[in-house]
Amino acid sequence: MTPFETADLQKLVNYNLIMADKDNTYSTNQIKKLSECHSSLGKNNQLAAPKLSRWKDLNQAIIDWWNNDAIEATSVKISEQNNFQFYDPIQKKILSELFTKFRELYPKKNVDFEFSFITKEATKQIMGEEYGITTHFTYEFTNGDYSEYIRLKTAHDPEPALIDRAIISKFQAENEEYITAALGKEELIDIDLVDNPDEIIEHYFKILEEYLTDRQKIKPGDYCNFCNMSSTCGQFPLVSEGKINNRVRQVKVSKTNLVKLNSCERRAAWNVQYGLPREDYVEFETESDATKFHNYAQKMLVNNSENLDERNIDNFNEVTSTEDQVTRDKLFKKYQGLISKLQEYSNLEIKDSEYQLGFTCIADGVDIKNGELVDKKVATVFMGKADLVARVNGVPLIIELKTRPEIPEDLLESQLYALGASRLLNEEEVIILHVYSLENSTQVKERRYAESELNSIKEKFESIAKKIGSWVPYNALSPKYNVGDWCGFCEFRNTCSEYRVSDGQKEVISLEEIIRKEKEELKRTKNELSNEKENLIKEHADLEEERREKLNEILLLEQKEREQTDKLNIKTKELTNVDKAISQRLDKKYIKNEKERLKKEIENIKKESKNSKTIKEKEQLRLRDIEEELKLKEPMLNNINNQLSPILVVSNLENDLLNLLKIVLKDAGYETHEKINELDEKLSIETRTWEGFRGKKEPNPFTDARYLIKLIEFSINNENHVPKLSHFKNLKNEFNDLRDVLNKEHHTSINPNHVRVVELGTVIIKVIKSILKTKHYSGETKDYIKEYSKKANSLVKPFKKSLAKN
Ligand code: SF4
Ligand code: SF4
Repeated sequence: MTPFETADLQKLVNYNLIMADKDNTYSTNQIKKLSECHSSLGKNNQLAAPKLSRWKDLNQAIIDWWNNDAIEATSVKISEQNNFQFYDPIQKKILSELFTKFRELYPKKNVDFEFSFITKEATKQIMGEEYGITTHFTYEFTNGDYSEYIRLKTAHDPEPALIDRAIISKFQAENEEYITAALGKEELIDIDLVDNPDEIIEHYFKILEEYLTDRQKIKPGDYCNFCNMSSTCGQFPLVSEGKINNRVRQVKVSKTNLVKLNSCERRAAWNVQYGLPREDYVEFETESDATKFHNYAQKMLVNNSENLDERNIDNFNEVTSTEDQVTRDKLFKKYQGLISKLQEYSNLEIKDSEYQLGFTCIADGVDIKNGELVDKKVATVFMGKADLVARVNGVPLIIELKTRPEIPEDLLESQLYALGASRLLNEEEVIILHVYSLENSTQVKERRYAESELNSIKEKFESIAKKIGSWVPYNALSPKYNVGDWCGFCEFRNTCSEYRVSDGQKEVISLEEIIRKEKEELKRTKNELSNEKENLIKEHADLEEERREKLNEILLLEQKEREQTDKLNIKTKELTNVDKAISQRLDKKYIKNEKERLKKEIENIKKESKNSKTIKEKEQLRLRDIEEELKLKEPMLNNINNQLSPILVVSNLENDLLNLLKIVLKDAGYETHEKINELDEKLSIETRTWEGFRGKKEPNPFTDARYLIKLIEFSINNENHVPKLSHFKNLKNEFNDLRDVLNKEHHTSINPNHVRVVELGTVIIKVIKSILKTKHYSGETKDYIKEYSKKANSLVKPFKKSLAKN
């Protein structure tokens, strides 16, 4: 095997000997993010991070330079021109310096140079599929069988992550070097290998497996500051109208930079948007007493209500046991002050510490596209880390621990937390408590925020977001600077003063500004005029169109009117003709006949009305006569009634009974003697019993009530022979009683008395009632029967009364 073959083979082994499917491959950076918060690996929105663009452009400049065979000065110039042209002078200078440093560390040599997708990958089977974790290198220099893998780093801390080092350690081959080109430090640093790469890689695969099998909700922490998902993950809710999508530029502003922004925009912008290197960078800082106090207090109080009791104050000494006595005393004093102030809050529960709180605002802003300034929406995520997060009687309470006196910026901080907490927790009221633990005292400042205050805070931060949106990416000089006392503590004070304009420059700038504004004004006026012209032309065209439409309408109306007139003329003619035809048809004879007929009708009507009038008058007269007659006869009638003889009454009753029997037989179709005789004969022939029952035959049946009653009685028993009397079928007893009482009357020679009148009358009245009850009769017949009933009652009534008296 030739050395070339060995190197190539080795390369294969190193570069993904076991290559994972692309979709299942995660970079070490992604795995690191997953280890912090599963949600941080969502779909990225565009980040306003020119520092990242700066890194990309530096990389491209290096590649261009290396691959350019022109002389050094020319290739450098061309690379810089091509890749740094859009940057402002500060960033151009930074890029040029880093580019120079790289060229000094790696001057052009006759070696192979690789710059794309240089990786080493560890793989593992998870749920039956192969997954990979990949560490990336920026360049690879190869000289024969020797390879140098370079990680380009511009940050102050160039140390690769543990997982990168583990993968490198695992796949390291004999003829390979792994180097970090730390441009910030102007150093080439060998990457430290680890002794237990498998263990570390396994640990990270475990994290990946957890993510794949049991994805967790957001888990905020310090890393939120570096997370691309902060405006969409929900931890920093959107408070403005609008939507976050990939057409929105995003800027993250920490609480510290928010405070800086309050005094100087440039200082905040250089930190959050342009990532300019700080001049006060200190690699290692000893933990201050303030930090210690924060840490110990948080440790004591989170989820530990016992320690909120003043009686347990000494527990604090346990956690500070490793500190020297002076420090312990100082810290205890502060802690004591804090606990005593917290006594004012009953039902206090401290739930968390160092908790990320904030919100997102969207505002109109700008961006650079192909070197041109364009409008763009900008989402600003305002975020801060609250020292202690609590609830008091259910209301959110944020506690900020300060080891310095109150400053005006604390108000801004409290507003940031208040709006963030209210939106995150969906609460309408939030309390922010600043505790100032000073040398000899502890003071507190409590601020309560309700709906109206929270709305004003939102508006305030939206106007801050508008300022932030106006910072032009690539141009670190676009944010305004504001010189003041704070400059003494500014991390950019040298760079800033170097890039501040002198009075002379200021004048030129202000003239340029005036000209620019005038140009803009002219451009605006020109646009307005051109818009106005366009509007006028459009208006004119619209009016012309309207005129045409109206003309057409008028023409149509005229046409319609003409048509209507023609139609009217035709109809008038038709009408005249019709009139003529009608008058012709109505001849004289017809009219004469009609007249006569009408006259007759009128005369008849008149006659009728005269007749009816006469009749009416006659009737009225007759009625009057009757009434008078009645009046005259009434006393006589009473007298007669009183003097009625039982003989006459019995005779009357019998006479009326005969008439009643005739009526009911007539109704049944036996209205004459002949008809009754025919029936008699029929019954004699058809029944054997009739003649026996009847006795002697009556030649004039309608004169003998008892015969007629017998006939009816027999008919009741022989319904099929005399069906026409079948409606009497239930009156057998009544007729039988009637016949008995009549027989009694006829078989005695003694004149009837009151008792006999009542006896006969009662039986007759009962028969009449029963006949009416059959409901067989109607009309005149019924009226007659009723009349007879009335009469029978009136005849019998005086006798009943007289019997009752006696
Ligand atoms: S911002 Fe924080 S909480 Fe939100 S996804 Fe990123 S790391 Fe997670
Ligand atoms: S030095 Fe002063 S003016 Fe310049 S960025 Fe810093 S704070 Fe602003």
